[in-house]
Amino acid sequence: MSGRVLVFSICCVIPLALTYFAAGHETVRNQIALSAGVVAFSMMAVNLFLATRPALVEPMVGGLDRVYELHKWIGISVIVLILIHTQLRFVQLEGVVAPGSLAETSVKVAEPAFYAMLILLLVSAVKRLPRLPYEIPYHIWRQSHRLVGVVFLALVFHQYFVKAPFTAADPVGWWLNMMAIIGVGSFLYTQFGAVLRRRAYRVTSVTKHVAATIVEAEPLGRGLSTRPGNFAFLSARRNGLREPHPFTVSGILPDGKIQFSIRGLGDYTRRLRDLLQEGDKLLLEGGYGQFSYLRGGDLQVWVAGGIGVTPFLAMADDLSPNEARQIVMVYCVRNRADAVGIERLEAAAARSANFTLHLFESDTAGRFDAAALLALVPFEMGRADLFFCGPGPMRTGLLDQLKAAGKTPAHVYFERFEFR
Ligand SMILES: Cc1cc2nc3c(=O)[nH]c(=O)nc-3n(C[C@H](O)[C@H](O)[C@H](O)COP(=O)(O)OP(=O)(O)OC[C@H]3O[C@@H](n4cnc5c(N)ncnc54)[C@H](O)[C@@H]3O)c2cc1C
Repeated sequence: MSGRVLVFSICCVIPLALTYFAAGHETVRNQIALSAGVVAFSMMAVNLFLATRPALVEPMVGGLDRVYELHKWIGISVIVLILIHTQLRFVQLEGVVAPGSLAETSVKVAEPAFYAMLILLLVSAVKRLPRLPYEIPYHIWRQSHRLVGVVFLALVFHQYFVKAPFTAADPVGWWLNMMAIIGVGSFLYTQFGAVLRRRAYRVTSVTKHVAATIVEAEPLGRGLSTRPGNFAFLSARRNGLREPHPFTVSGILPDGKIQFSIRGLGDYTRRLRDLLQEGDKLLLEGGYGQFSYLRGGDLQVWVAGGIGVTPFLAMADDLSPNEARQIVMVYCVRNRADAVGIERLEAAAARSANFTLHLFESDTAGRFDAAALLALVPFEMGRADLFFCGPGPMRTGLLDQLKAAGKTPAHVYFERFEFR
């Protein structure tokens, strides 16, 4: 079963069926209000679970970036469902809630909790304020996102004690309790348990290439389990570098060492270039991701834009001299000086007859587009798999142009360098 179908069933199909089974006799308004609440609660629990970066779900959905995308859309759906649940409200038809009872408290607790959740989810969904060039800084966004789990605890209290037309012994009651356990357990895991996944490394070299900082590190104990194309969350035991950030493992070296190639695109990555030193301790968590040439067919086209070369560096290293797949790689940079790891790619091309490398230098060759790509690929694009890693607009532009030219690749695999 595909991961999305599974998630949809857990978030919607099962809770809707169980709610109807328990409360099908209620008015339509009550049924809608209840269903919205039960589905929203299930979705929140699933989202807290997805936030644990579950190794099992990642391949089912197609990579951690897709897991986060799903997580985002579930969060947006919860906003809508909370609005429905709070605006329609479940109208009690029989009996009143005893004053001072837990049932009454659970409603009082829920009111601010729902609105707090709404605000937190809106902040999470809105990375950039409309029409303003201001982006909510990642660390603030991350802290506000953490509070979602705290508010979920209040909603667990609400769902457990609120007066509803079913009891904890009914299937829907069981379901909600199970979702509460999954949500709370996942939240506690992300706050306190995730550190157990981190592996300690020691930085063995920091090289300042003009277009990236190249960091090599050796494991202090058990290393990461990582494959070419994977990425890991990296943080360093040094002030200003403690927040984990995702970076592709650009080299998996035979002696257990690994390499990252990091472009200074923002505060953290620039600080890393200035501060990180040989001997520093790194904490790494991974490897994650499903971006691998091993998933592709016999004809492959690899397109790297700028620092998007990192997964291809590890993949090219992995190619054997008798690689059976025919692979054409185009590496787009401004000029050769900007090309990170070019010697390794050239070595791979010299080693594997079926791997061809083209360095596309925009300073001299102009803008890279579908026509330029098609001129370099010696086989029919429609039969080939395209692997892309680079700026999002470059990917969408290229795919649109290929489509317009009737040269859509058989499959497109891409890695986003962005989660939000
Ligand atoms: C799967 C993946 C693989 C990547 N591989 C590489 C690589 O090999 N080399 C490379 O140079 N860059 C890579 N990146 C991009 C790199 O993670 C960002 O450039 C870096 O995190 C930006 O941080 P900053 O503080 O310097 O920039 P900022 O300007 O603060 O952030 C820029 C953007 O990066 C994202 N971001 C910032 N902090 C985090 C964080 N802690 N966790 C997740 N996302 C964050 C946000 O979307 C933010 O909008 C990769 C990203 C992803 C998702």
